[in-house]
Amino acid sequence: MRADHVGAYGYAAARTLTLDRLAREGTRFDRAFAPSPITLTSHASLLTGLYPPGHGARDNGMAMAPTVVTLATALRDRGFATAAFIAAFPLDRRFGLARGFDVYADRMPRGSNGRLANERPGREVVDEAIAWLTSVRKTSGAAKPFFLWVHLFEPHAPYGDPARDGGRSVIERYDAEIATADREVGRLLASLGGDFEHTLVVAASDHGEAFGEHGEIGHSLFVYDTTLRVALLMRGPGVMAGRAVPDPVCLIDVAPTVLPLLGLSCGARLQACGSFDPDGIDLRPALDGKALPTRQLYAESFAPLLDFGWSALRAVRDGRWKVIAAPRPEMYDIEADRSELNDLSRTGGAAGSQNAGSVSDLPLRDLLARIDRISGPDLPPTPPPSPSRTGETPAAMAGARARLGALGYVQGGGPSSGPRPDPKDRRELAARIAAVTSGEVQGDALLPALQSIVQEDPRNGQMQIRLGYALVELARCGEAQRHFGAAITARVPTGDAHLGLALCQAQAGHIGPAISTLLESLSVEPGNSVVLANLGLLQGRQGQTESAVTSLRQALTIDPDFHEARFNLALVFARAGRRAEARTEAEDLLRRLPPTAPQRPEVARLLSSITRSSRNP
Ligand SMILES: [Zn+2]
Repeated sequence: MRADHVGAYGYAAARTLTLDRLAREGTRFDRAFAPSPITLTSHASLLTGLYPPGHGARDNGMAMAPTVVTLATALRDRGFATAAFIAAFPLDRRFGLARGFDVYADRMPRGSNGRLANERPGREVVDEAIAWLTSVRKTSGAAKPFFLWVHLFEPHAPYGDPARDGGRSVIERYDAEIATADREVGRLLASLGGDFEHTLVVAASDHGEAFGEHGEIGHSLFVYDTTLRVALLMRGPGVMAGRAVPDPVCLIDVAPTVLPLLGLSCGARLQACGSFDPDGIDLRPALDGKALPTRQLYAESFAPLLDFGWSALRAVRDGRWKVIAAPRPEMYDIEADRSELNDLSRTGGAAGSQNAGSVSDLPLRDLLARIDRISGPDLPPTPPPSPSRTGETPAAMAGARARLGALGYVQGGGPSSGPRPDPKDRRELAARIAAVTSGEVQGDALLPALQSIVQEDPRNGQMQIRLGYALVELARCGEAQRHFGAAITARVPTGDAHLGLALCQAQAGHIGPAISTLLESLSVEPGNSVVLANLGLLQGRQGQTESAVTSLRQALTIDPDFHEARFNLALVFARAGRRAEARTEAEDLLRRLPPTAPQRPEVARLLSSITRSSRNP
């Protein structure tokens, strides 16, 4: 949600009564920025107080380090009841944000095609959150404090339903979705009743949307303030009413501000919050009307590199200057040029420039060096920058390092080494890609759009994967395989291409090769529960019972509520005549399935057939 589409931030057409009320009765941060225009990355910073290099989730699909302290782990350690209600797949528990939450409700509904949806309606999310609040307060009364994170996805692309609602402009659909989310926030806060007055409420968005600014359609590619500027509002005990904070702040400041507001001091005494060691600062001085210390704020997007094979973009703002590290670096005077349209780094070199003298004084070089220092730690140099941090996070950091290393993002060379395209030189192509990824291109137009993108940018792994899956939908697996193969060659850092290829191989009856493909994918993305579950399924079909059990159990360790994996595990046991184990899994599954789950009859049938066959051997 863009800040400038909220009434409290001056948007005349807004229908944001709840957010406006929070601003009126609390404090509004006028220059709040996301550390990344990417959903998972930005939320991980919000919950940890760390820049992306510190938590490791530098792109959607890239898990957060398994041991960093989060708001949830810190507050649960202090006796808070904790729960998160999630509206979209990018924040699925497998990406590491679930730690510290007693409840992490992230199940997406299944579409008519049987696939899990990418998002779910705010109404459903808020219904669940209210039910949890009610039960927590019934069982523990006011004695037990709670930390509740409610994630709403309405304003995020796709905006409305472009297929059914194409008559309205994109902006109209976007504003309508913001209004829907605002209403749901209002319903949630109303459910607090009298407790609202002594509840600290923080409302934030994780990034904006570009709507054509800088040639970008959605978000995630560029690091201009178009997509980095977010709404940030706080209301409750310790927060003054009606205050606006002009100092630049970042979502990494939320956790280090919330903890002391709740009476947990973490600033000077780190041990008070375990090993919490945030990059962000405590914003309480700003809540009291005082100036914040001047500092540099960092932001990055690794989506261009990890998704498309282009150069990553990293930026730092320092007073009036903002510098973007790219193959051709950029520099803006964000006081005089808030829209970042006049790149000063090029003025200096331009023939006939009238102010070359002043340009040579610009701190471009210093700020580029600063960017390298901040974004370095994801590829831990020796010695590590902070023993407390690197000591905690070897596994995930090694994973992140391996993935970035595989793409040529190597220590010392920085992301601009090598001949990777500068994203700003691919604006037109990026806009066509965003039209696809935002859902604006649909139906019969989708396939030709993807084909022309891939033709122009054949090393773009994510687009090769999308084209592959679009062909699978059309039952054209033969063609799809070539595109999955191209994505694997482009070293896309997830198992998605292998999954698609294995799906097509299995459909053609080539089970052995499909198994090999899935095994290979585990070296690219270890711990992908979907890959493991499919691997187990195929191994089971081949009669490789032991391997199948191992794979399915691994999938279930990662995701205990992966119901299809548990069903297949029961099936593998049943086929192998291991009835007791089959029954245990099937019964466990029935316990886990909600009473109305459509899978229940099938599980019950399996269970009764196991019981029957054990009676009549
Ligand atoms: Zn997002």
